[in-house]
Amino acid sequence: PTVLELHNVTKQYQQQTVPAINQVSLQLRQGELLALLGPSGCGKTTLLRTIAGFENPEKGWIELAKQPVCGQGTTLPPERRDVGIVFQDYALFPHLCVIDNVSFGLKHLGRHRRLPNAQIQTLAQEAISLVGLAGFERRYPHELSGGQQQRVALARALAPRPSLVLLDEPFSNLDVQVRLYLRQEVRSILKGVGASGIFVTHDQQEALAIADRVAVMRAGRIEQLASPEEIYEQPASQFIADFVTQANFLKAQRSAGGWKTALGLVDTAMVNPTDATQGMLMLRQEELYLKAVETDAEMVLVICDREFLGREYKYTLNHPSLGKLKARTPIRFATGDTVQVSVKPNPYGLRVFV
Ligand code: ADP
Ligand code: MG
Repeated sequence: PTVLELHNVTKQYQQQTVPAINQVSLQLRQGELLALLGPSGCGKTTLLRTIAGFENPEKGWIELAKQPVCGQGTTLPPERRDVGIVFQDYALFPHLCVIDNVSFGLKHLGRHRRLPNAQIQTLAQEAISLVGLAGFERRYPHELSGGQQQRVALARALAPRPSLVLLDEPFSNLDVQVRLYLRQEVRSILKGVGASGIFVTHDQQEALAIADRVAVMRAGRIEQLASPEEIYEQPASQFIADFVTQANFLKAQRSAGGWKTALGLVDTAMVNPTDATQGMLMLRQEELYLKAVETDAEMVLVICDREFLGREYKYTLNHPSLGKLKARTPIRFATGDTVQVSVKPNPYGLRVFV
């Protein structure tokens, strides 16, 4: 079943000339985890705030569990929507201990307000155990690490047992290591309780790693909404290809023998079928094959920078007329080495963007 449906939702702030979110439509299935991915300022937070009820859209409508919550003459306030929220900065009350932070919403907001105190304590305790903080009930936020504070924020969002949890860049204030395991844990906690989730991120790896589907946003619109694999293998636009994979783009022209590029002819069979006769050929960093050559060979690129990534290196290559290219390979070169670059086929086909 569908837990959330947005239909052509548009929200424009008063001082702005363009809408912060523009004609956004999407459906979220029960238990699904969706990532909202996009550069800063593209409207991710505004979209979450609109779903939560903190912003009121000018156009379109939203349904939660098949009930309209805004548009079409209704506006349900945030506390009456069956939605839990986790903010980027945790937004914990500094003067309340863990269990009081977690039970705050149960005592003061929404449909749980009239629960007996004993039951509120039980719900809060359950949420605290769920996020692995049993034993920390009487700690104050300043006595917790960043990762633990974010767990408290998650427990607070989960305590009323919402069917939908919204998380706005929940891991961005955390150390890399904490971020890597907490994102996996948040996914399994949400899956465990069967809640649907939408989490905002500007980190493409994070989105691809833990979401069931990814919505890539650009300037207020959703440019592609698909599985992580599809986003990676079949990006819908050059913008997405650039943002998600930091690929190289080479001018390419179709000819009888294949696609002509500065790196030579690329076999037509290696490229996804297209009607275009010219465009930009997308080459992922791992799709470039580097071969050491003498400095005076034809079409030579110079390795001007390298990063060691463990199982491979990431090289920046320079060519006087072509500019810079990025390549990843386990083969070791030194900066200053000269190489020739050829294109490797991939199982899902190279793409040309017009
Ligand atoms: P993101 O979360 O993707 O970085 P936001 O949703 O915060 O993007 O912002 C989208 C656009 O709306 C930006 O241009 C931003 O400046 C603008 N914006 C966000 N909040 C407000 C506000 N309260 N008033 C006016 N403009 C806003
Ligand atoms: Mg934001």
